[in-house]
Amino acid sequence: MADCDILIIGAGPAGLSAAGYAARLGYRTVAIDALSPGGQLLYIDQIENYPGYESASGYELAEKLEKQAASFGAEILFTEALSISKDGDSFMTATTDGDIRSKAVIYAAGAHHRKLGCPGEEEYQAKGVSYCATCDGPFFRDGQIVVVGGGDTALTDALYLAKLGRDVHIVHRRTEFRGQKMLEDRVRAQGNIHLELGRTVASINGDGKKVTSVTLSDGREIAADGVFIFVGIEPNTKILEGFAELDHGFVKADGHMRTSVPGLFAAGDVRTTPFRQVVTAAGDGAIAAHAADEYIQGI
Ligand code: NAP
Repeated sequence: MADCDILIIGAGPAGLSAAGYAARLGYRTVAIDALSPGGQLLYIDQIENYPGYESASGYELAEKLEKQAASFGAEILFTEALSISKDGDSFMTATTDGDIRSKAVIYAAGAHHRKLGCPGEEEYQAKGVSYCATCDGPFFRDGQIVVVGGGDTALTDALYLAKLGRDVHIVHRRTEFRGQKMLEDRVRAQGNIHLELGRTVASINGDGKKVTSVTLSDGREIAADGVFIFVGIEPNTKILEGFAELDHGFVKADGHMRTSVPGLFAAGDVRTTPFRQVVTAAGDGAIAAHAADEYIQGI
């Protein structure tokens, strides 16, 4: 594969923002992703807190970010990064389609859904168990839905699912939510959302073909057609293990997005950060591109 100045690994909001900024600075910029551009945006129904948008679908915003980055000259390729190493002053990234040499790398590979790990979760995946409300919610129109988790994703997506399903039960292990108060207030005001707080899911049950119920830690069984698991994210940092410094799996990066490896920058959900939002990911991407520019220029 062709060499470039700045290689961006991951084409979610952080990666696409970095790609736009880097290409606009005149660098030969390549952004790669193993999946369609957009990252976790593709799992979000509506975004209400991205500046300038009263409301936008995740897909719509992903498309706009991709188009904008491409309009500045960034090349966006569909390939998976397999390893990164340093070869003198440059980086060598092995991908499923060959090696890419670059002067700097911005690592913006994002995160994936954490699994619950209870009996039935694996068995009934895609048979009622889901990690994406926008993708699978419409399958459970007028059905009984269970949402697991107490963060922003669980609250936002429970509100979305409550528009589709007959009833939504939120099962959360604590009695306080981790998610934003404004979302919690909306959830509590929604007539068909029921809260199962201070409880966990003991098992997800079914008839072999599809989910039929969920058993809670207090022994009660709730009828369920769909079980949506939103118990957080885990960073996609496997290929950085032993190469860059990590903290609980997240890439350690400073305010300039610099990692422990000179020339390697991290942006978005994959890095250590107190606040993971689309807007902060996009901001990280802009800073990372600026820092990569300074690094290449030797400033
Ligand atoms: P999160 O904030 O990490 O919340 C995960 C939730 O799952 C927590 O309530 C946690 O419980 C629970 N949990 C974790 N492991 C569990 C287990 N093994 N069993 C049962 N429950 C478990 O994750 P998230 O909601 O996916 O959000 C990820 C990031 O994206 C956050 O920074 C969030 O702010 C951001 N986000 C923002 C928006 C928005 O602004 N509209 C929307 C979605 C996501 P505890 O509370 O007890 O730890």
